[in-house]
Amino acid sequence: MRQLVFERVGRLSFREAAAPTITAPEQALVTPLAVARCDLDAAIVEGRAPFRSRPLHALRSIAPRLFRSLPFGGPFAFGHECVAEVLSVGQEVRSVKPGDRVVVPFQISCGRCERCRRGVTASCSAVPHAASYGLGRGDWGSVMADVVRVPFADAMLVRAPDVSAVELASAGDNVADGHRAVASFLAARPGAPVLVVGGEAMSVGLYAVLCAVALGSEQVDYIDPDPARRTLAEKLGARVLGARYEKQSRGYPITVDASAHPDGLAAAVLSTEPGGDCTSVGIYFAKRTPFPLLPAFMNGVHFHTSRVCSRSELPAVLTLIGSGRLVPSRVTTLLARFEDAPEAFLHRGVKVVLTRGNP
Ligand SMILES: [Zn+2]
Ligand SMILES: [Zn+2]
Repeated sequence: MRQLVFERVGRLSFREAAAPTITAPEQALVTPLAVARCDLDAAIVEGRAPFRSRPLHALRSIAPRLFRSLPFGGPFAFGHECVAEVLSVGQEVRSVKPGDRVVVPFQISCGRCERCRRGVTASCSAVPHAASYGLGRGDWGSVMADVVRVPFADAMLVRAPDVSAVELASAGDNVADGHRAVASFLAARPGAPVLVVGGEAMSVGLYAVLCAVALGSEQVDYIDPDPARRTLAEKLGARVLGARYEKQSRGYPITVDASAHPDGLAAAVLSTEPGGDCTSVGIYFAKRTPFPLLPAFMNGVHFHTSRVCSRSELPAVLTLIGSGRLVPSRVTTLLARFEDAPEAFLHRGVKVVLTRGNP
């Protein structure tokens, strides 16, 4: 079968790979119907995220200086957001059957360990740290492939609502990430104003805007240096405050840092009102990142940061999408076909969604 592979910065290709088979009774095989490009994928292909292939990773401890001087490089199986159809299931799988449409969370989680039972599915203790599809983290393969093995089908797969596959392609990662940044805080303070600081986590910030509007925030404000994303945010219902990462004069009960930039992080933290919640969804690859700890301390800002726990977030996300209140395709800037993936993933816009056959 074909599988998308990250070769090096600026270059992806399809390579032939052995099709996965069912090797344990709790597994399922699925075939993706629509695949989305994660914000992290865009950073990797453009060389803004420090991802290297596994043989080169060994160099990290042997020759750290040489390792740091290397260009980001593959190859590894690439692509991790998808909605799929179940092809076959192992003997112990009860929750899905062949023909079902399912959203596949990008992280691998067993559903049984203590962390999974607490909802911390991003850090399942049954698999290696940060195990996921399509990011060079173990042999789980890419979802931009003809067949994908789901190791814990009952724990991971969530049946999809009856909407277009295009609406569901990113639900198992970036949409869930935008949702977790606002949903529980808006549930605790209905109608509360939200500030989203946009940037490197391009679509996550805009999905946070969409989720905040859908969940009834009375005022969603947005700042972002990128003019195209500012225009898009306005179309989604946000009030655009400007391009500069700076403290806003009013304090917000809920703030989201999607900038992955220290100035954006500071703007979000400093714009959070006393006792408010600030969630940072961006990835800071630097060893140390400046943080305005004294103002955060003095104001009692509740600061949250983590990788999203995609499986835990999915039921609420899919209910919202199924109800028609959340329409993720409003963030999509390029629709293409699976065959076009090596070029489409290089698209400079916010969100790429690929479908089997014509979009
Ligand atoms: Zn991702
Ligand atoms: Zn687990």
